[in-house]
Amino acid sequence: MSMNNYILNLLNIEDNNIYIFTDKLKERKIKGSNYKIIEGILTYNPSSCPCCGCVNESHNDIIKWGFRKNCKIKIPKVSNCKSLLILHKQRFLCKNCNNTFIAETNLVDKYKSISNNTDKQIRLELMKKQSEKDVSERTDVSVSHIDRTMTKMVSHTVLRHALLPTSMNWDEFKATRDTKGKMAFIITDNDTGNIFDIQDSRKSRDLDKYFRRYSKKERDKVKHISTDFYTGYLYLAKKLFKNAKISIDRFHIITQVYVALNSTRVGLCKKDNPNYNKLKDLWKLIVKNENDLSEKKKYSKHFKKEISQKEMVNYMINTDKALKATYECYQGIINSIKNKDFKKFKNIINHPNMNISFKMKQVLNLYRENIEYIENSFIYDINNGVIEGNNNLIKCIKRIAFGYKKYDHFITRIFLIKNNIKG
Ligand SMILES: [Zn+2]
Repeated sequence: MSMNNYILNLLNIEDNNIYIFTDKLKERKIKGSNYKIIEGILTYNPSSCPCCGCVNESHNDIIKWGFRKNCKIKIPKVSNCKSLLILHKQRFLCKNCNNTFIAETNLVDKYKSISNNTDKQIRLELMKKQSEKDVSERTDVSVSHIDRTMTKMVSHTVLRHALLPTSMNWDEFKATRDTKGKMAFIITDNDTGNIFDIQDSRKSRDLDKYFRRYSKKERDKVKHISTDFYTGYLYLAKKLFKNAKISIDRFHIITQVYVALNSTRVGLCKKDNPNYNKLKDLWKLIVKNENDLSEKKKYSKHFKKEISQKEMVNYMINTDKALKATYECYQGIINSIKNKDFKKFKNIINHPNMNISFKMKQVLNLYRENIEYIENSFIYDINNGVIEGNNNLIKCIKRIAFGYKKYDHFITRIFLIKNNIKG
């Protein structure tokens, strides 16, 4: 391998028409950062003239005509050091039409200064869970260039599937400021765990239109839809998917009692409550499954003695009648779901302890109103991990990329990170 090919190989440059000046490697400070400056020329014998099409057979057709000098091209970092390629591009003169033209390379697009390798790296970096600012720093290009890259990718993310998944989950999340509705709508394929599609509105009218693009025959193939308690979804699912069993996914069932128990506890966290600090700091123990509480005694600064988790929870819930009843209701619900014991679940919601908090009463009402959908979630097994995985992913993206103003870009990131974009 020649020295030149060796260097091209190291730099991941595939164009063998580039000749690096092996004696000219420099380091220079640009805008406060150290850069490795690599210099070279781009030259070859063109096969024809791009202006008139004249085939280049001899010196009477096309001749070399100087260089376009000092084209600065950003290339990926070399050994973690920012790098620039200064390329002198061959100019040609066509004797047939008298026009001049510049040598081209697949390293960088015409008129661009960021190499295609850098763009490739940007796309790979965007697939990782990190902010666009991080990507900008890693690849040494401006945030606005990354923004433009995202805009170019947006068109690829509009997934138009011919077929619907036979088992799907519907959910929503608060998206960006420019979203049409306040909430975006997300459809997950329950069998594969892939995001099927995302819509920028969860309004019934928009979703109705969306699903009606699929024929009735296609919609009738859907066997299962899982969703949250939003009545709009339940209504739509029944109306458009005649053969689908509809269930409320366990994640959302549990969220309801979790929130109710927590707000009951928070209601007791008043400064004049002698147990204020315990109730405030030990909340994690209260929402924990009682079967997972440790019985091992350990020193607690709140109790100023050796005490087990189980004993701490027992103490706390016994400081208030409503808290105790709400706690027991919560534990009964989450364990009946865990053990897939629908009879027990139904028994708890139909015969509650009268002391449960108002919030918990509301939750039980909601359960009773939707009992047929809840029952389906006990019968039809869907992978909860899939749903939670997607929920967590979206939450995570929002956290790392807070400040997303453009809905399209936000969605593109979700698909990118899920690796749903080819290219
Ligand atoms: Zn020509």
